[in-house]
Amino acid sequence: MRPLDELKPDRTIEVLFFDIDDTFTHHGHLRSEALAALERWRALGRQAVAVTGRPAGWCDHFARMWPIDAVIGENGAFWFAYAPVTNTLQRNYLAYPEPGEALQVQINHVKEQVLARHPTAALASDQAYRLYDLAIDFAEDVRPALSLLEAEAIAQTMRSLGMTAKVSSIHVNGWFGTHNKQQACLRWLEQTLGWDERTAQPRCVYVGDSLNDEPMFAKFQLSVGVANIAPFLGLMKSPPAFITRAEASDGFCELVTHLLGEQAAIEP
Ligand SMILES: [Mg+2]
Repeated sequence: MRPLDELKPDRTIEVLFFDIDDTFTHHGHLRSEALAALERWRALGRQAVAVTGRPAGWCDHFARMWPIDAVIGENGAFWFAYAPVTNTLQRNYLAYPEPGEALQVQINHVKEQVLARHPTAALASDQAYRLYDLAIDFAEDVRPALSLLEAEAIAQTMRSLGMTAKVSSIHVNGWFGTHNKQQACLRWLEQTLGWDERTAQPRCVYVGDSLNDEPMFAKFQLSVGVANIAPFLGLMKSPPAFITRAEASDGFCELVTHLLGEQAAIEP
């Protein structure tokens, strides 16, 4: 892993994929500096795509109101993109089956089993806004927070009931099917820009902060961790190629400033 200064700011880098929680946001909050960094990036004709496990309801808002080209949500189940010309929100579902009542019945069945077997965990507070995921809270609002070991046990329960499951820093997410964030990024690149993976690699950068970003660090050659990734590095097989000096949204702004070849206003 190398300092960000060693990543050559190159005009050929045209697409910025970014994680939201603790990468774009700072201790759970959105900062004007981070939004301004996105605006400067896109003002030069470059693309910005948020990649998150957050729910469809939140992604609807992100796609409509943030300065981004698309958001990939619920761990790659879909992307939403706002089309200003037609004033419409485009929804592209990559997961199967279609979202709806039948899928919710299946998800509810797993939810009941998980909460019965792991009574100290709770349903995530954003579950109502999800289409594909079951999100179990182990460290966001539940007190005391559960350990990573307990979170992994919850993931195992989900897997035993037919779901794919992943542990993030706050939730255990489970879903039916094999969709994931990497596939969704590649599909977005192909359908939106007409790029295959080989064309895309030198033109894309991914930035994240945590263990659940590791598959994206492994997928993209130009991958960046914000500085708060440090405690997780020992647990990673595929760390990011570069690391920022600053944490969370300060690190995100540092990356954009660096890639645009701007002079940093304040040393991070
Ligand atoms: Mg994160």
